[in-house]
Amino acid sequence: MSDLRVRFAPSPTGYLHIGGARTALFNYLLAKKAGGKFILRIEDTDVARSTRESVDAILKAMDWLGFACDEGPFYQSDRFDLYRQKVAQLLEAGKAYRCYCTAEELDAKREAAMKEGRKPKYDGTCRNRSDQPDAPHVIRFKLPEDRLETTFVDKIKGTISVRHEELDDLIIARTDGTPTYNLVVVIDDAEMAINLVIRGDDHLNNTPRQILLYEALGYTVPEFAHVPMILGADKKRLSKRHGATSVMAYREMGYLPEAMVNYLVRLGWSCGDEEVFSMADLIEKFGLDNVGRSAGVFNPDKLLWLNSHYIKTGDPVRLAALLKPFLQQKSVDPEKGPDLIAVVKSLQERSTTMVEMAEGATFYFVDEVAYEEKAQAKFLKPEQKPLFEQLASELEKCPQFTEEQLEKTFAVIMETTELKFGKIAQPLRVALTGGTASPSIYVVLQVLGKERSLRRIRQALATL
Ligand code: GLU
Repeated sequence: MSDLRVRFAPSPTGYLHIGGARTALFNYLLAKKAGGKFILRIEDTDVARSTRESVDAILKAMDWLGFACDEGPFYQSDRFDLYRQKVAQLLEAGKAYRCYCTAEELDAKREAAMKEGRKPKYDGTCRNRSDQPDAPHVIRFKLPEDRLETTFVDKIKGTISVRHEELDDLIIARTDGTPTYNLVVVIDDAEMAINLVIRGDDHLNNTPRQILLYEALGYTVPEFAHVPMILGADKKRLSKRHGATSVMAYREMGYLPEAMVNYLVRLGWSCGDEEVFSMADLIEKFGLDNVGRSAGVFNPDKLLWLNSHYIKTGDPVRLAALLKPFLQQKSVDPEKGPDLIAVVKSLQERSTTMVEMAEGATFYFVDEVAYEEKAQAKFLKPEQKPLFEQLASELEKCPQFTEEQLEKTFAVIMETTELKFGKIAQPLRVALTGGTASPSIYVVLQVLGKERSLRRIRQALATL
């Protein structure tokens, strides 16, 4: 057990994307490894952009990935009283002030600064204002003047230093009184006793401002680790142009959560040249030391490769349960067919996604085989009638559809028809599956079983 307390703090303004999921994973792994606590906090103070659907989507994705939190989910929207109290505390201490500047005034100042080639930042007009009229205003945090810069040591990026002249008086409460991100994140991380903040490096610029707020509020400053962002193959920030960015879109495309987790962790972290990691491996091996400083590049082929690995090596019983909804999507009733576990076993080697497995499994469940046109023209010709008659009578006699018995039966058929195995197997495959690509013919026969197989052979005979 350790006192490590980390958190994942998504804003519910959309689905959980790849980058967010990786941040969540890094936090989760470190907490598990250290025996610390992983806290989930929903940052929904931006009422206009936060939605219940997004919250649900994020929770569902976390659940799918297996990132169970130890505390939470907490909702910032439940904590406005606390934030108001802290704003009042800063005002009282003279560390914050009311700013009455209107949007138009601020725009004009910004434009003027740009024109003169100055960095646009708030000029402090209301900083020392003595009257406090009852008019619309925001609250700004007074940038402390007791030092010229703020420095911290990021656990991934190293030493980061920001000169205060780069900063200005940050708005901590909007005109409607709602607090802003930089303030609430500090209050919550401090009140929730978070001692290591791991997040995307898009927040790196916020950190010095947040450190100043920790200090102003009398809180202990946590440690920080900013994870580099994820890029597409073209080295541009990962976006929809590069494919799906929503974690759950990958579930729908037939990916397994362990493949996604394994893939996510390698976007920025490495462990020698190992590629395949179970969650247990990761909890043992993961550490920030081996998180790189440069951006990870999203590689869909590698994700697919990992997925096929986990499908090949997965537990057929679990995969059978996962396959059901994919079959149902194709209007296949998974209860009306051969044993689903046997179906899965026959397809594990051949499927890179669960969608592909469902596609490959469909033929097992049909009442009547639909032949691919070309396959039918080539392999179900009238001259094959004697072969199918042989197949029907010999397979009927076959006492049990085991590999051994089927081999014996086929030996007989090969002898009487004087055909090589392939000349028998391929027409039979078309009769049984409708196409020319499927698991091995013995496996197909075994999975379908005698009754279904014979029915399909008779169906073929009827078309010849
Ligand atoms: N809510 C912020 C976001 O989703 C995260 C803030 C943080 O991790 O500090 O970007």
